[in-house]
Amino acid sequence: MSDQSYQPYGEQHYGGQQFDQQQAPQQQYGQPYGEQQAQPPAPQQQYGQQAQYGDPQYDQQQQYDGQQYDGQQPAGRYGRSSRMSESSLRVVWVYPDLLSTYGDRGNALVVERRARQRGLGVQRIDVRSDQSVPTSGDIYLIGGGEDRPQRLAAERLRNDGGLVRAAENGAIIFSVCAGFQILGHEFVNDLGEREAGLGLLDVWTARGEGARCVGDVLAEVDPQLNLPQLTGFENHQGVTHLGEGVKPFATVQVGRGNGTGDGTEGAWRDTVFGTYLHGPVMARNPGVADMLIKLALDVNALPPADTTWYDALRTERIAAAARPA
Ligand code: GLN
Repeated sequence: MSDQSYQPYGEQHYGGQQFDQQQAPQQQYGQPYGEQQAQPPAPQQQYGQQAQYGDPQYDQQQQYDGQQYDGQQPAGRYGRSSRMSESSLRVVWVYPDLLSTYGDRGNALVVERRARQRGLGVQRIDVRSDQSVPTSGDIYLIGGGEDRPQRLAAERLRNDGGLVRAAENGAIIFSVCAGFQILGHEFVNDLGEREAGLGLLDVWTARGEGARCVGDVLAEVDPQLNLPQLTGFENHQGVTHLGEGVKPFATVQVGRGNGTGDGTEGAWRDTVFGTYLHGPVMARNPGVADMLIKLALDVNALPPADTTWYDALRTERIAAAARPA
């Protein structure tokens, strides 16, 4: 924990109101929330009413790109993990309507692609901000966002509670930038107020006083995670301090990372990860997607899969970041 003036958020006021998880403010799902709304509210998408998560009907509706689950059964090859639900990997992409800057959607595509390359069936579930977050996913992905959508996303995730319950069940969660900040104890919102996060990572985010952290990043990942050099792109004003309950995800070689000046980038504990890196980070670092899939399957290794395209992108971006400006 940083020695700065962080106090437990249960005693703090957020947005002029006492934050109390037991007394969630009135739900505002489905109501217009102003001119910055990314997309108009989709009609009749009352998730949880038309079809329940796990219903065949629901599954049918959620087939990615209209394709059916390919029916391949991974369980025989990998062994059924207690973590993995059913016979396909359930990849939940949280709030694409609010949190998906700089192509963070690509993370969902890459996780899906890397799993399918190993013969795994994948069910991708995109959960908009007016829908409940299902609690039985295997891998949850949450992206970056601008300041106002970030506040709205945090408010809705707090009220919904699904992501927190999924985390309590041991779900794998990978978050980027605004998503990372939301997983922490608190961040400073677009109104300049301290906004409660979900407390799933022992981090808290202040507003950086200096220049925005913008540019390419190179970083060495925590050796415990056994991943190659990380390449990504950052763009954030928030500065994130790590508490004792997390480890830095990586150490920056180029770029700012958490912005605290201590060289840390992102944070992780158990199966919950946060990073500032866009890119999308999994397209530049497919090993990160593989790591999440391994966690979901509870295996130490996956069959090799072609990385030609990823390698070309990695080589180009690493060279670009290493080049003096
Ligand atoms: N709004 C946050 C910040 O500027 C996060 C930005 C982002 O997700 N790219 O710190």
